Amino acid sequence: MNPNAYCPVCGEKVFYYQSRYGGRVFFDDLGWPWPKHPCTDNGRQTLKSPPVVRGPIVIKDRSGKTLDIYDLDDLQDAADQYIFTFQNLRTRARLDLALTKKAMKKGGLSIEDFWDTPSFLLRKDDEKPNAFRVEFISCRQRKVVRIRMRQSR
Ligand SMILES: [Zn+2]
Repeated sequence: MNPNAYCPVCGEKVFYYQSRYGGRVFFDDLGWPWPKHPCTDNGRQTLKSPPVVRGPIVIKDRSGKTLDIYDLDDLQDAADQYIFTFQNLRTRARLDLALTKKAMKKGGLSIEDFWDTPSFLLRKDDEKPNAFRVEFISCRQRKVVRIRMRQSR
């Protein structure tokens, strides 16, 4: 995830996102509804990757709100659920969230969808205590996935 990328076509500031297997997307803003930057959506151009940002980074959306971006650090199979260990890219803090296998099946998600995703946007759920809203881009499914996960400990 590069929050300071520029569109290689029009030069506008965009958010750049690359999956582990090379899938690339440019966004006008981060978070729902994840508006895609239109220039790079036609697939005809060969795009150069913007430089990768290293170290702790602060990512803000267009309204200036700081977003908590995580990557997936570990994944455990725990009977009827999976425990995902996410790590905050800015603070390096770890967070364990659980997702039942039933919910995963219902959402058509596989473990590979999670491992293929370089960054996750996590937000505390306002409606449910100890729950988080998790958003990420599934390159395999070519869509943005939105799920709710329960805090595990
Ligand atoms: Zn553009």
